[in-house]
Amino acid sequence: MKNIKLSSLKEKEKTIVRVGHVKVGEGFCVIAGPCTVESEQQTVETARAVKESGADMLRGGAFKPRTSPYAFQGLGLKGLKILKKAKEETGLPIVTEVIDTRDVPWVTEYADVLQIGARNMQNFSLLKEVAKSHKPVLLKRGMNSTMEEFLNCAEYILDGGNPNVILCERGVRTFETYTRNTLDISAVPSLKELTHLPVIVDPSHASGRVSLVPPLSFAAVAAGADGLIVEVDINPAEAVCDKEQTLSPVQFGKMIKKIRSLYQFMSEKP
Ligand code: PEP
Ligand code: MN
Repeated sequence: MKNIKLSSLKEKEKTIVRVGHVKVGEGFCVIAGPCTVESEQQTVETARAVKESGADMLRGGAFKPRTSPYAFQGLGLKGLKILKKAKEETGLPIVTEVIDTRDVPWVTEYADVLQIGARNMQNFSLLKEVAKSHKPVLLKRGMNSTMEEFLNCAEYILDGGNPNVILCERGVRTFETYTRNTLDISAVPSLKELTHLPVIVDPSHASGRVSLVPPLSFAAVAAGADGLIVEVDINPAEAVCDKEQTLSPVQFGKMIKKIRSLYQFMSEKP
């Protein structure tokens, strides 16, 4: 693969990204939470519920990259403050998206992990800006991007001075319409043989359907992923964004139990 230098497996055996007490790339990391931060009650209650089930980090968007300019764009700074509150209540580190270079310095003050969304994977100015931050970056694969393009984007962040990059496969666009995207499960073992960076899977945006989130999550574990980022809400029926793919705490609790035992099984030496 062309120009893949710093992220290449030839460079290093394995990167473990430390986020507080969590080590992404060692064991199996589960990031869970609402698509969007809507209110303090919704976020804090969801954070408590996912923590109770054993999630390692909390996700939640304060800035939402929406297809329509008329759709809810996120609470912005208010949302970040709510995430901070949820962290104080639960101890869960915060993963949240940054969509604008101008926001990077102050989103960094609230986030433990800066998420670069699929739509911004090749926003090179944003990549250069998060490279300057001392916070880990969760880089999502663009919906129309090859793995080579994906790794080149990781390369921008590494070359810019930030070694803490987590890759996320979140489904790619195909002719299929039943699912929101098509989870490219082969990306997981492929990336594992190309790069030392940890690889996680987003089964929520990959499928767009609650019923498909558990099976895709199990497939991710079996394929060798280092973790998952999953949408969970205290009340999915009322979620402003992505309710069709959002698990309830009960559904998440059942799924994570199976994930933990499946991971253990996969890690056993024959
Ligand atoms: C998200 O995780 O909130 C999100 C918008 O996902 P993606 O960038 O993968 O579409
Ligand atoms: Mn979402």
